[in-house]
Amino acid sequence: MDIQLDKAPCGYFSISDSGFIQSVNQTLLDMLLYDRNELLGRPIESTMSVTNKLFFHTYFYPYIQLYGHVDEMYFSFRTSDRQDVPVLLNGVRQERNGETVIDCVVLMMRKRIEHERDILQTKTKLQELYQATNEANQKLERLHEEYEIKQQELERINLQLETMASTDPLTGLKNRRYFQDQLLASLASFRGSGISFSLLIIDIDRFKSINDTYGHPVGDLVLTNLAELLQSMSRDRDIVARYGGEEFVIILPGNDQEEAILTAERYRSTTASMDWGEYAITVSIGVATVTQEDTEQTIVHQADLALYASKSGGRNQVTHSANLVKG
Ligand code: GH3
Ligand code: MG
Ligand code: MG
Repeated sequence: MDIQLDKAPCGYFSISDSGFIQSVNQTLLDMLLYDRNELLGRPIESTMSVTNKLFFHTYFYPYIQLYGHVDEMYFSFRTSDRQDVPVLLNGVRQERNGETVIDCVVLMMRKRIEHERDILQTKTKLQELYQATNEANQKLERLHEEYEIKQQELERINLQLETMASTDPLTGLKNRRYFQDQLLASLASFRGSGISFSLLIIDIDRFKSINDTYGHPVGDLVLTNLAELLQSMSRDRDIVARYGGEEFVIILPGNDQEEAILTAERYRSTTASMDWGEYAITVSIGVATVTQEDTEQTIVHQADLALYASKSGGRNQVTHSANLVKG
């Protein structure tokens, strides 16, 4: 064999049409760990595992018989010490010296297969990472949902707390704290935009005697019923609150002195004419309308003075602080 072919950087063999080795180069012999005389004249199948023999018979022979060549066939030979050698095989079936022969070149594929294995491993790792990222994302989404639910719960509780903090537990009306805030707000909008307002302080007459005669629970019921009456008669923008004990306050936004007196009168007469059962309930009312000099203390004080006048005038009365005799 030509030295160049014998030591070529690829394996070479030539077989007869029936598969007997006619020549083989040194490179292939080194690849398969055989001596030349061990292979010459032997069937090429003697360098294959059973599986690869089957493969060779099923694909290689029929294909090369049909098309006259085989290109880039992945395949495995077996060395004399029974190691598999993955190869890429090109073959051509041709006439030489009046005989049909099959010439093949063989390229060892180990490096390529290792690369492919590396690529596959990297791909698997990437898939694992991708899956882990996906799972982490899903977990994050779940956590986020939980967080949103907790957040809503918190908002609900906060709202509840806020409502509780501004509500009188017995009557369900706004409490004194809320009233004070609204009074400040009303004063601010009066100073800012000139929106006037009036204030009513409503005190149940001789309430102590209701408690004394019928008991504290009945007293509570009267407070609750009166609260309901005041609330039902008020406009949406009015602030009705329990000031403490048997005293209620109402802020009447936009009401001047005259309107506030009429409104107070309405509350007084409705209370007096309502059917309270075996007892009669009346209220005394003090009214004040905001002036430029007023603070949150002075306007309450003015309404209180007016209430005192209603009481000392005989109760079940309305007095506006502007009508008090100064001195
Ligand atoms: P006046 O006409 O002068 O206002 O007389 P009054 O009896 O209404 O006034 P006084 O201030 O002497 O008594 C108020 C009473 O209100 C005393 C207290 O027992 C009662 N009271 C205060 N808060 C409550 C409450 O939450 N429930 C009940 N049942 N009674 C209360
Ligand atoms: Mg009182
Ligand atoms: Mg009273």
